[in-house]
Amino acid sequence: MNSEVVFTSEADSIASQHLLQHFRRDEQQEDLCFALWRPSTGQTREVALINEIILPGKGDRTLHGNTSFEPGYLERAIETACKKKAGLAFMHSHPSPGWQGMSGPDVEAERDVLAYPAGATGLPLVGLTIGTDGYWSGRFWRKTGRRMRCCWCDKIRAVGPQSYKIYFNDEIVQPPARKEILKRTFDTWGRTSQDTIARLNVGIVGLGSVGCTVAEAIARIGVAQATLIDPDKIEKHNLDRLLYGTKKDIGKLKVDVAARAMKSHATAEKIRITTFPLSIHNQTAYQAALDCDIVFSCVDRPVARDVLNYIAHAHLIPVIDGGVAVETDSRQANLFSAHWRAHIVTPYHQCMRCNGQYNSSMVVMELDGSLDNPSYISDLPEEERGTNQNVFPFSLSVAGMETNLMLRYLLAADWWPLVQQQDCQFVAGEMRIINKECHMHCSFRQRRAQGDRENPSYLIKGEKPLTTPELHAI
Ligand SMILES: [Zn+2]
Ligand SMILES: [Zn+2]
Repeated sequence: MNSEVVFTSEADSIASQHLLQHFRRDEQQEDLCFALWRPSTGQTREVALINEIILPGKGDRTLHGNTSFEPGYLERAIETACKKKAGLAFMHSHPSPGWQGMSGPDVEAERDVLAYPAGATGLPLVGLTIGTDGYWSGRFWRKTGRRMRCCWCDKIRAVGPQSYKIYFNDEIVQPPARKEILKRTFDTWGRTSQDTIARLNVGIVGLGSVGCTVAEAIARIGVAQATLIDPDKIEKHNLDRLLYGTKKDIGKLKVDVAARAMKSHATAEKIRITTFPLSIHNQTAYQAALDCDIVFSCVDRPVARDVLNYIAHAHLIPVIDGGVAVETDSRQANLFSAHWRAHIVTPYHQCMRCNGQYNSSMVVMELDGSLDNPSYISDLPEEERGTNQNVFPFSLSVAGMETNLMLRYLLAADWWPLVQQQDCQFVAGEMRIINKECHMHCSFRQRRAQGDRENPSYLIKGEKPLTTPELHAI
């Protein structure tokens, strides 16, 4: 199991302000604190979600250049963790920038003093160090036999409203070599951003016309790891919109055709693509999505969007969703209106239920099969019926908006304006920016950073794909 940590923006800023307060005043003084974490378990990685910091009170720690905590502070932190059914994390600062190693006293404190009592929570101790530049590094202390083993994290992430910060452990996940083939890409956003983009595991749920075009974009910009999820096979009526599909591909799995094309178009030295011909509400595919650092939602079904809402809010994996709606004037048989939009979904952006991409009754109807029952559908209000009209250029725009929202989120400097949703009206030729919050009583607000405790109740166990249609990629 790989180990990782992800922070909510509040937890990141509270912890870093506390831990770096002395360095920011030019004093050579480290600091420490505890935090709570909740597990998010993917197929290949366990992630500690950190949303709550337990700051020291008066007399809880001693500062002497280095820093040490009093037993009462540790007791209070463990008690709080047990009461909230969370794990314990210990954080401290170092007087140098970048990913930090551990000194002898660091190892002694975490392995010998903290790791065993932290076991009372039922979860391993997570140790974190922050450098003077705010760069996080971290490890899990896992018990093997009677010994505590240090498992270094691959990376630490921090999800915010404006940007997504990712701190890599270069020894485990090496940055890519600067290659001629990516010269123009490197020259566009620089080495540091390219090192981040190239090392992401990018998920794409739905490999239809939008998903395949997103796949092409991420393969071209040097992404070296992708996870593709879609249970469907290519049909004849897909071929007017499917970037990679040819007549020879009819009957083949969409994920296989997309993976084949991505491999031949990839600019990364080596691209690793994992395919799941499963619906996203299948447990296996769901956990594969939990291994991703960012997920594109290229589906038009309510259950898939509901699952992705959980992934974004409960598991702190940013989701980028989009959709196309077309209206044809039946009397004149001409295009009447077309609009498409793309938006980013995290705990800091409106969820897909609040922004109207689906509603709970549609989820129930899809799960009980009535959404696919033609007589039932004809009784529904028009906006809930769903339409299948679409053309390649519209999908191309959505895919472009989605990939550019990903880039904005990864590259944004503090002064960039917030862009949560872009909404494009084809006939009026307008593009609007929409930034909104979830409704006051939206249940996804409570699911923030709850991880495995807040998975959808209807996940299906086992590898067997459901009968189609089940995912309807756009
Ligand atoms: Zn240290
Ligand atoms: Zn909401």
